[in-house]
Amino acid sequence: MRVLIIEDEQRLARNIARVLTEVSSYAVDVSLDGEDGQHMSCSESYDLIILDLMLPKRSGLDILRAIRKKGLRTPVLILTARDTTEDIIQGLDLGCDDYLSKPFDMGELIARCKALIRRSYDRPNPVIRVGVLEINTASREVCFAGKVHILPAMEYRLLAYLAVRSGEVVSKEDILDHLYDFDSERFSNVVEVYISSLRRRFDPALIRTVRSQGYVLRGDKL
Ligand code: CA
Repeated sequence: MRVLIIEDEQRLARNIARVLTEVSSYAVDVSLDGEDGQHMSCSESYDLIILDLMLPKRSGLDILRAIRKKGLRTPVLILTARDTTEDIIQGLDLGCDDYLSKPFDMGELIARCKALIRRSYDRPNPVIRVGVLEINTASREVCFAGKVHILPAMEYRLLAYLAVRSGEVVSKEDILDHLYDFDSERFSNVVEVYISSLRRRFDPALIRTVRSQGYVLRGDKL
């Protein structure tokens, strides 16, 4: 999963990014002003956008308006010190999905982020079951044939993404877009490397390659 934080308080933005990466294994991009934030949110593939309202160059509400006008369904959580009722109503009316006022509790923010992403993939249950595979997206525990595994971050990130898309063929480009932040180097064989690790760890048949299309998680076929 990949998250964009549009927030001009640099320390706060970096802190949220660090926690989201460490706790939830998300890829995270940070944008420090409104103009760049709008560009990033409309040109990259995000699973969630955390949006401040008072930003240099362009307001958060203008960015939200632009995102929805473009038809993007990305969940948006507004995170702002402007906590008057009118701001909340305006944000919700413009198409934001959730709202948290500063100061906030980091644990609550992370929990809300996870819930928004779950809902956007139509996966209300934090535990995703695909045959003998069970992924707890709240605790990051992976259970395979009754045995619990804690995976390295990138393997977990890939498996969790394939799990929310289970049954679908997911292209390599799609995987790269949702697993890597803007600054990371996307080596062309990196997806194959992690797919191989997952197959070795669990079962060679867990992830099927569909030639020139992508990959499909097949835990139900084991
Ligand atoms: Ca601000």
